[in-house]
Amino acid sequence: MNRLWQFIKNNNNNHGSSPWSLEYFKFEPGQEKLREALCTLGNGYLGTRGTFNESTASRIHYPGTYLAGVYNKSDSDVAGKTITNEDLVNCPNWLSLTFKTGQDQEWIIPSLHHIVSYYQKLDLKEASLIRNYKIKEDSGKITTVETRRIVHMVNMHLVAQEYSIIPENYDGEVIIRSGLEGNVENKGVERYDELNSSHLIAGSSGEFSNDGIYLTVNTNQSNIQIAMASHISINNNGNEVKLISTNTKKEERAIFQEFKIQVRKKERYTVEKIVSIYTSRDMESKNPLKSAIETVQKVSDFSSLLASQKEVWSNLWDMFDLETEGHIFSQKALRLHIFHLVQTASPHNAKLDVGIPARGLSGEAYRGHIFWDEIYILQLYDYRLPEVTQSTLLYRYHRLEQARKYARENGYRGAMFPWQSGSSGEEETQIIHLNPKSGKWGPDYSRNQRHISFAIAYSVWEHWKIAHDLNFLCNYGAELFLSIAQFGASLSYFDPKDQKYHTRGLMGPDEFHEKLPGSIEAGFKDNVYTNIMIVWTLQRALEMLSSILSLKLKEELLKKLKINQDELKVWTEITRKMNLIINEEGIISQFDGYFSLPELNWKAYKKKYGNIQRMDRILKAEGKSPNDYKVAKQADTLMLPYLFSLSELEDIFHQLGYRFDKEILRKNYDYYVQRTSHGSTLSKVVHCYLADILGQSKQSWKWYCEVLNSDINDIQGGTTPEGIHTGVMGGSINIALKRYAGVDVINGIINIDPDLPKKWKRIKFKIKYKGIWYSLEIEKHKINVTLSATKAVSDNYQEKINIRHQEHLLDMNKTYTFYLK
Ligand code: BGC
Repeated sequence: MNRLWQFIKNNNNNHGSSPWSLEYFKFEPGQEKLREALCTLGNGYLGTRGTFNESTASRIHYPGTYLAGVYNKSDSDVAGKTITNEDLVNCPNWLSLTFKTGQDQEWIIPSLHHIVSYYQKLDLKEASLIRNYKIKEDSGKITTVETRRIVHMVNMHLVAQEYSIIPENYDGEVIIRSGLEGNVENKGVERYDELNSSHLIAGSSGEFSNDGIYLTVNTNQSNIQIAMASHISINNNGNEVKLISTNTKKEERAIFQEFKIQVRKKERYTVEKIVSIYTSRDMESKNPLKSAIETVQKVSDFSSLLASQKEVWSNLWDMFDLETEGHIFSQKALRLHIFHLVQTASPHNAKLDVGIPARGLSGEAYRGHIFWDEIYILQLYDYRLPEVTQSTLLYRYHRLEQARKYARENGYRGAMFPWQSGSSGEEETQIIHLNPKSGKWGPDYSRNQRHISFAIAYSVWEHWKIAHDLNFLCNYGAELFLSIAQFGASLSYFDPKDQKYHTRGLMGPDEFHEKLPGSIEAGFKDNVYTNIMIVWTLQRALEMLSSILSLKLKEELLKKLKINQDELKVWTEITRKMNLIINEEGIISQFDGYFSLPELNWKAYKKKYGNIQRMDRILKAEGKSPNDYKVAKQADTLMLPYLFSLSELEDIFHQLGYRFDKEILRKNYDYYVQRTSHGSTLSKVVHCYLADILGQSKQSWKWYCEVLNSDINDIQGGTTPEGIHTGVMGGSINIALKRYAGVDVINGIINIDPDLPKKWKRIKFKIKYKGIWYSLEIEKHKINVTLSATKAVSDNYQEKINIRHQEHLLDMNKTYTFYLK
């Protein structure tokens, strides 16, 4: 902890001083893949890593373009078994652009030349990536290259870049080469090297004009066509240079076009490359290639795209920004997190049938799969752009049949969603996985995390609580929710011996514990997190049926889902008799048998290995198992007070005949924090949040800095280059909003109860609730609030707000100041 804290302190200011950008001042090969992930640009439809234009996949670089929902399955033979994996496909590299300073020279790859100076900037405000460098070739020729690229947020099918070359000490001939490179594979994660990584087969390629090329490829199993059309123009200090294509070269799954220009010393030659991307998944296009060509031909130039990009991002920032004062690093990291989330799930997602992959559209870790991480993310959208939450929930709704089938196959009723989800909603979790520490493949039981379904139910309910969309609830949310409730009830069984309901064979969020020592059966009896999630889901389901849905809809849904009155009685029973194991000191047992596990010698392991976040891999490499110790990867029991308020938990526990209060939370926090290695970035979010509830503000801030550092400084040492972590990003925003600014909805009214960290003088943001925008500016002792209506309201319309639980009535469009004691 101390070493990490020191590292964080030293690295807090290494990305430039602007709170609106990530800047790098020198090229560092070892950092390049991390920067590529962090500098990914996206628009919800697609994401492209911030790779050099001139590079192909290598030890240093990894170009990756991922289209939301474009998955492909392939078989691999590993450890004597054939396993099938579904991957988010690495699509053709549209960035491809380079030059050479003479016919007999090599194509420029900057990392192979002497880089004289270097500057890279991810501009969060306008969502562009700038990379400028000066290189010196062995011939002595020096060239300045200035590049800027965007992934267009207005037209999701467009990506664009400008690429300027300034010959510093020579006149003569320069050959420019632009390509669409479909000869890529999924090679972004070293651990997956033994797995089949080829997903694309050749389609067609050619020129559609003197300055335009196209390429189509097909995924080899899911049979999705991906079409790209690229258009090039070159100008010399603003004057168009007539292009003469000297050579168009086709390779298998790639096409390149070359142009020769005459250059003069110190003059600027700017190449503009605009690319349009469509796939056969796109509803609005019957012919992806035709659409791509037509779209690209309509674009006049890069600057017009940049202008509209700036405008739309300015609106997005107006909606999403959390402006803080006092601590540049946390401001920068928070904005980076908002930026990546909005790039992963943008307003365009309302039209897409996709979920939010745990690693965004920025890398191939976890194969682009969708887990439960949305539970940390969706509130960002509920309060601002609920359409995004809806589309994410619709992704699940459209896979309900698959989830019902999955439940049936496992002997359950209702809908059991897969732990890892991809295109179809089938279970995509591997059955074996590689331990990079030992190099051995071992069984993967993580699919037993059935709590994923209740995480979806939680998101449905939060969406209902915050966005309050009865239409959505009635048309989709309620069916999703009740199907999950039905599954929860069928997971629970009654034991006449103790007159309690129990669950078995389940894993909680802590993935280190897969089964009891010596047991041949995977999973556990009475994982408390899952048990409480079931109880909560059933309580809310009963509430939905008794007081939210109309009688007609209720009857229709009960009939459709074949839920009868007897089943509903069992639901009520479960909410009163679910078993929890709590010892005399009030420590809640993560699962039945947890307390009998021996303690790990944490001190010795820390001393021996330094970084022990992945204790599972360390133990397995030593021939031991994390199953045998009290060692958790991440918050499991402690997830409960992250998701529910103390009073909600008090009620749930009370109804089950147990006690829960702040003191019990404190004891459990103190107990589990000592037994958790935080092998998942999500763990720190929860511990930060709880430390704040417990009044440990200094400790909470320490956790918060680790949360903010997770990706920007890759504190897990190698996971971020394989993709940013959307869950931790969402969590950081959630903490700022729910804990530090103290925003909550209580009894249908927004309540603000702030407690700003010492380092923040002020936080300013907007949230939307029941058709009203709340603009809030919170300081230590003062809150400014302005409300404005987005729905039709009368002139004298007033809305309630609670400041520290005290009710006030506010007019629209007036700023009120409240002083805090
Ligand atoms: C965590 C899971 C998480 C997944 C994807 C794992 O390391 O243990 O809780 O859902 O990563 O982010």
